[in-house]
Amino acid sequence: MQSSKKAKMHLSNETMNVGFVKKVEELSGSSVRRCFQCGKCSAGCPMSAFMEHPPNRIVRLLQLGQGERVLAGRSIWYCASCETCTTRCPNKVNLASIMDALRKLSWDANGPSKESYVQLANRLFIENIRTYGRQYELRLGAAFNMKSGQFLKDLMLGPKLLSKGKLKMFQSKNKNIAEIEGIFKRIEEMRKKGEAL
Ligand code: SF4
Ligand code: SF4
Repeated sequence: MQSSKKAKMHLSNETMNVGFVKKVEELSGSSVRRCFQCGKCSAGCPMSAFMEHPPNRIVRLLQLGQGERVLAGRSIWYCASCETCTTRCPNKVNLASIMDALRKLSWDANGPSKESYVQLANRLFIENIRTYGRQYELRLGAAFNMKSGQFLKDLMLGPKLLSKGKLKMFQSKNKNIAEIEGIFKRIEEMRKKGEAL
């Protein structure tokens, strides 16, 4: 009786894991099964030193049905979406897209995570692009410090960067701001139709 209960639990976990991997594959449009662990993705990833699971291990964990270990870690939030992994993969595994799918699933399931500063920075970065059509670093830094509660973070760097012209006090809007807004609107429509993450 005890063992049949255990078997049932095991089966439901397996079903859940298969369902999770299927969802990742659907959202990303890429198969995780194609990966043969050559490691080329991780060798080229600029962020792998900061990840507890480098990109090839993320795929391996998914192949083993250990999606919960992937979602529990910070790797997916440290991915910079640079697509180096996707370009280097000899087996056409679109790891950048898989990372996108994992971030969406993590957010949907858990909301903000312990890596919420990364999420906050991503969100503010995108908001800035939408408002100005370009990056406005001073505003980005100020908004990040306010919203993360780290009011004095990197404050002393500001005057130095301003004096060297690396930071602008004021930023004008990109003259193509209407087209950029159009891109955001199209992405929102695609999201509503389930065509984009
Ligand atoms: S480069 Fe492609 S095949 Fe090689 S480990 Fe990475 S995802 Fe797998
Ligand atoms: S897209 Fe992400 S995982 Fe892939 S190489 Fe860039 S930072 Fe690394």
